[in-house]
Amino acid sequence: SPLKSKSSSECVKVVVRVRPLSSKEISEGREVIVTMDTKRGVAILHRPGGTDRDAKDFTFDAVFGADMTQQQIFDDTAADILDSVMDGFNGTIFAYGQTGAGKSHTMSGPQDGPPELQGLLPRSFSHIFNNIDTTSQDTTYLVRGSYLEIYNEEIRDLLSKNPKGRCELKDNPQGGVYVKDLSAFVVKSTEEMHQILQTGLANRAVSATQMNETSSRSHSIFMITVEQCAMGMDGEGHIRVGKLNMVDLAGSERQSKTGATGERLKEATKINLSLSALGNVISALVDGKSSHIPYRDSKLTRLLQDSLGGNTKTVMVANIGPADYNYDETMSTLRYAYRAKSI
Ligand code: ADP
Repeated sequence: SPLKSKSSSECVKVVVRVRPLSSKEISEGREVIVTMDTKRGVAILHRPGGTDRDAKDFTFDAVFGADMTQQQIFDDTAADILDSVMDGFNGTIFAYGQTGAGKSHTMSGPQDGPPELQGLLPRSFSHIFNNIDTTSQDTTYLVRGSYLEIYNEEIRDLLSKNPKGRCELKDNPQGGVYVKDLSAFVVKSTEEMHQILQTGLANRAVSATQMNETSSRSHSIFMITVEQCAMGMDGEGHIRVGKLNMVDLAGSERQSKTGATGERLKEATKINLSLSALGNVISALVDGKSSHIPYRDSKLTRLLQDSLGGNTKTVMVANIGPADYNYDETMSTLRYAYRAKSI
């Protein structure tokens, strides 16, 4: 039957993207240790100075080499999810990886960069409003944007006048959870959505500076809700609501190695905990046999509970650097992503 829901494993995709060597890495004469077999979806990690026999292969739903354009990434990861959000389903896109691996590049792209360098967020904005512009007059849409970050297992509204204020997660009596008092702005155009993103990014930078932290240690979630009302043959309006979550995860680098102590160590422990909770939820969904999905183990997975599993679509983009000195972190990212996908 066409109504039969797909198994979760078909609705969770894990892909890997490697960035190019930076100019600094080139000038330092760094060796590239990652090769991508895009046809087979295999990422190959070579040990620096090792032989082919020391190389490790990891198979994913897709892999993207350093020459992939932002447009290609959008087409292969987000376009599908956006179409289902426009149809009233929820979807989530994650960017995972160590700091400097390209998460923000994938999600946002450079600020004030040329249009071709725009990341998944700005491309999604235009995709949504272009779609709305071409649908029939009988369907009306209401689009809302929210932007928050999770730092130290605390939620901050990035669009609030007081970004230091904390928001609580509340259980919804009808199921799922919601963020109490989270700002949600009605957005009428791509430009207005850009303004919201800019406001949130600016608030994020300010609060990070004030609290002496860096944004690489928090998760940020940009949420777009698309509510559509279609006039049916019966003359009644039929409402469908889809939600897109775009998640730029905290840097996955193992903080224990940096010799952090005190507050920084506590912070690091919470990051590791929430990233492993996310990995556990995704692998339980992909597995499909688990009766228990451990959503409640972190704020991030609790918050995204209604957008992970069931009729929703999820893509995780694991970002990696290509250079030899990143070997350990790249190995750890590939293992995390592979485990999220493995059955
Ligand atoms: P992260 O968010 O994971 O810390 P960034 O997205 O800030 O990493 O990327 C680090 C640097 O590498 C930035 O200067 C960014 O512009 C550059 N970069 C990342 N990915 C790419 C890419 N695919 N092509 C070109 N430059 C990239």
